[in-house]
Amino acid sequence: MKSCIFCKIANKEIPVELLHEDDLAVAFKDIKPIVPVHILIIPKKHIESIADLTGKQELLAGRMIMVAKKLAEKLGIAKSGYKLLFRVGRNGGQEVPHIHLHLLGGGRMSENIRVV
Ligand code: 5GP
Ligand code: ZN
Repeated sequence: MKSCIFCKIANKEIPVELLHEDDLAVAFKDIKPIVPVHILIIPKKHIESIADLTGKQELLAGRMIMVAKKLAEKLGIAKSGYKLLFRVGRNGGQEVPHIHLHLLGGGRMSENIRVV
């Protein structure tokens, strides 16, 4: 999708250091990290949110989680633990309408989930 910032990153129209790339997904650092390790894993294909995934895209969903797991090991936060987060739609607080999995680690996190 032309106007989508994450499509531009996946298509390398915007130069961003990719921490991972495969046929389905890429990973890069969040521009505004909220914890010491804050990585986003996104599909190369433009899919707005988890709510738009189809059964045929199961492999893609699994791939994003495996990429997060491997990056956590590579970045040295696997043992201390981390959080994986998909925000979905308005109530989920999703701001960028292109699926992204947050990999969050490097410090102890509170729950901080409340209905506003
Ligand atoms: P959401 O709230 O949609 O789950 O998270 C969107 C995330 O994308 C935010 O953490 C935000 O900092 C990050 N983000 C937004 N625009 C950019 C960008 O242009 N580059 C990078 N690296 N991260 C971005
Ligand atoms: Zn997109």
